[in-house]
Order: sequence, then structure tokens, then C-alpha cells
Amino acid sequence: MQSNYDVIVLGSGVGGCCAAALQAYQGKRVLLVEKRAYLGGRFSTVDRDGFQCATGGLAVPTGQSLEQVCETVGIPSGVKPSTKIATWLDGKFYDHKHGVTRRIIREVAESPEEADRVLAALNRAMAWETPGNDISFGAWLTQYTSNHRIHGMFQSTISSLLTVNSNELPAGEYFKVMKVSAPLRFGFIEGGSIRLWERMADLVRQAGGDVLLGAAAKTVSVDNFRVSGVTLRYQQQTHEVSAPVVISNLGPAVTLELIPEQYQELSYLEAMKRVTPTAIIWLHFASDELLLDYSAIGVGCSRRVNMIDIPSLEAEGVAPPGKHLYTVGAAPLDALNPVDLDGEFAAVMDDLRDIIPEFDELCTVLTKTCYRGKWPGFRTVPGSRPSHRSPVENLYNVGDGVCPPGYEGSMGAARSAQLVSEEIAQRGTLSS
Ligand SMILES: Cc1cc2nc3c(=O)[nH]c(=O)nc-3n(C[C@H](O)[C@H](O)[C@H](O)COP(=O)(O)OP(=O)(O)OC[C@H]3O[C@@H](n4cnc5c(N)ncnc54)[C@H](O)[C@@H]3O)c2cc1C
Repeated sequence: MQSNYDVIVLGSGVGGCCAAALQAYQGKRVLLVEKRAYLGGRFSTVDRDGFQCATGGLAVPTGQSLEQVCETVGIPSGVKPSTKIATWLDGKFYDHKHGVTRRIIREVAESPEEADRVLAALNRAMAWETPGNDISFGAWLTQYTSNHRIHGMFQSTISSLLTVNSNELPAGEYFKVMKVSAPLRFGFIEGGSIRLWERMADLVRQAGGDVLLGAAAKTVSVDNFRVSGVTLRYQQQTHEVSAPVVISNLGPAVTLELIPEQYQELSYLEAMKRVTPTAIIWLHFASDELLLDYSAIGVGCSRRVNMIDIPSLEAEGVAPPGKHLYTVGAAPLDALNPVDLDGEFAAVMDDLRDIIPEFDELCTVLTKTCYRGKWPGFRTVPGSRPSHRSPVENLYNVGDGVCPPGYEGSMGAARSAQLVSEEIAQRGTLSS
């Protein structure tokens, strides 16, 4: 480690790795600091008996910000698109073809008039006036239908994509995402997501920078409202490192805690009060025999499960030869407040037995986790994100806690890194 760098990046999640790679690509000497023993934060993989289990996200929106960053810095994303996609509603699989949402609405509506009413409302919201955020998406949809299959389909999309239930999502946020990125397609990274972050870390080293694992940022140093460096704890020692630009991927709340109190600007503190981390239940299981025909399944009208991915069907090196890896996502009944976790996991298992009747005989559960609080689904509900600029000049935030409207998850975290990098290129290290 050197005593000064052009840029220090705190945290190696999607936003941190993308920001570090983009800065290194621009010739900056970057210090990338990660508290954990592995890169990638909530979008990485850890090996469990040869299965690459996701530490959080695993499905990369194809052709979007993360792949764009890879293209910019000249590394392969390694993303293999999901080619076999379906929605499971009430025991029936609906194969995905172009215009799947509309097709399913027509198929499950009680009458052609009901389908027309819902489709016309969706069209108006996209092409004319987008609903505001004063009601939830669920309440917005109830104006047009109470059909539980139509609600179930949207609940599946919203809770798997945006990590809140449809009755918890501000209505306008759904349409913002659809306007920015529909139709969304996903893929899985060959060898596990961690491979991509390792390629980005290599870029940092090649440009003369350093990557520290097991190093925790303790404070951010500020000189007259301008960032001047950080204090780190690394190998049982405290280190002062200076840089004119610091990019934090720790989430805006933690970033704020690291700066001296006199710089914690009041309006930013108020904006932070709206930040509410979301919760996801996440489970991996394995089987010898392939039990489902699709690599990405949206699940609706279930108790809790909202998606099942089988990355081993598309991407090499994520499961031992001849074995299959499944990732299950589920939304707790309340994604914003504490819940009875035993009851939630029991509901998830019942769903899996409905979808795969031989589950107990043929499947081995590898991991079972509920993500919330400081290791959440998203750092906050869409529609309540503070700015990527912190109150301290040249101290930026990246990650899903600050992604711009309409961008979510890994796509939003990568987008925030693109925006911050563009801003640094424009402003340099100048004081305003
Ligand atoms: C279960 C689950 C499933 C998901 N599924 C998907 C999906 O399929 N597709 C998708 O696009 N999105 C998905 N998401 C969302 C996606 O994972 C996140 O939006 C994305 O990973 C956020 O990345 P980030 O840039 O905010 O960084 P984070 O992942 O939050 O990384 C922050 C990093 O900072 C490190 N850190 C913390 N404190 C310190 C410190 N003091 N010093 C140094 N380092 C520190 C942490 O260890 C971590 O590595 C999912 C999320 C979860 C939890």
C-alpha cells in the first residue's frame, strides 16, 4: 500500500468495482479497499462443495450498465444470457416470448374486457401520465382488477426485481424502471460472479493501484469541506492514506457515519431518514437430476417464492459436472419490517414442494439466508434515494443506495459508477 493515491474506492460491491475499474481505465492510481475476504459484496459468489453460491444477486441485466462498463474498460463480462425463461402462476408454466406480460394478462383475465382495461391502464401509464408515488403499485393495479393471477404476476416481477412487495412499492417507481430498461433480459456470469470482480481488480493493479482485502475504512478525512483521504484498519494496524477523491460503496448511511459530525449537512441527514433497507429471502439447492426445464422462472401466486434461477443450465463452472444449482428468491410478507423468520422459511419450503413435488427426495439445500438491515436486498426502497454526492466535496457515493431513478440492483449500482466517473472526469479535483 502507498501513502497516497489519485482515487480511493471504499467497498468492492458492483458500484465499487465498476468505479475502480473505470478510474483505473482512465489512468488513475486507485486504492480499492474491501472489508471482507472476497470481492463483489452482495453480488459475488462463494464456493460450497463446488457450487458457486451467490452472496446476493446473480442475474445480470444483459446489455445494460454493467456490461457497458465491461465494454468501456475492455474486459469480458462473462455473462451468458438466460435462454429458457418462464413464469409459474398457480401451478402452470407460461413460456416467455416477446410481450409476455401482455400475453399472460390476456390468458389469465376473467374476460376480454378485464384484459383490455388493465392493458389500457398500463399503456396510459407508460405513454401518457405516469402514476405518482403516493400510492403503491398494488393499490394502483387494484383500481383496474382484483384478479389474483394478474396481481400474482406483477408481485413476482416487482418483488424479484425491486426487492419489495407490490403493495410496498411506490407506483411510479415500477413505470420508471420499465421506461428505462424494458424489456429486461438477464444472464449469469461464467465461473461465478466473483470472476468478473477479479478481472476488474486486475485492471486496478495494472494501472499502478492496489486492492486490499480484509481492510476496513474507519474514517474519511475532510479538510474544509473537501475530502482529503481515509483512515483504514488493515492487518491489525491503522493506516492514513490520502487522495483528492474518495468513492464510497458502503451505502450513504455508513458513508455519512465515517465523516466528522460537523460536515453532516442537515438536508442530507433529512434525506437519509427516508432510507429504508429492504429484505430478501435467498436459498440455494442442488440436484443430480434436472428438475425444471427453464433457467429463469418468475414465480407468482405462491406463498413467498418469487423466482427460481438455474445458473448451471447456462453458465459453465458454477456447479460440479453433472450437477445442477438452483437459486431461489422470496419476498417476506413484510419486506420493510422484522418478520417471523422461521415462519417465512417454512412458507418458502412449502412453495418449493408445490413447484417441485419431489423436492424432499431429490434436492439438497445448500444455503438459506434472509438479507436485511446492513446487508439488505436494496439499501433503500426505490424512490427514496439520496444523491450520489455526499455533503463533502469529492466524496462520492456509488451503489444501489444512490442509483438514479429507473435503475435498480446491479444495473443501478453500475450506472451510479458510470455517472460518478463521468462527473469526476468533468470536474477533476477542482473545488467549486
Ligand atoms: C439476495 C439478493 C439477491 C439479489 N438479486 C439480484 C439479481 O439477481 N440481480 C440484480 O441486478 N440485483 C440483485 N440484487 C441486488 C444487488 O445484489 C445489489 O443491488 C448490488 O449487489 C449492490 O451493490 P453495491 O454496489 O451497492 O455494493 P454492496 O454489495 O453493498 O458492496 C459494499 C461492499 O462494501 C464492503 N464494506 C462495508 N463496509 C466496509 C468498510 N468499512 N470498509 C471497506 N469495505 C466495506 C462490503 O463488505 C461490500 O463488499 C440482489 C440482492 C440480494 C441481497
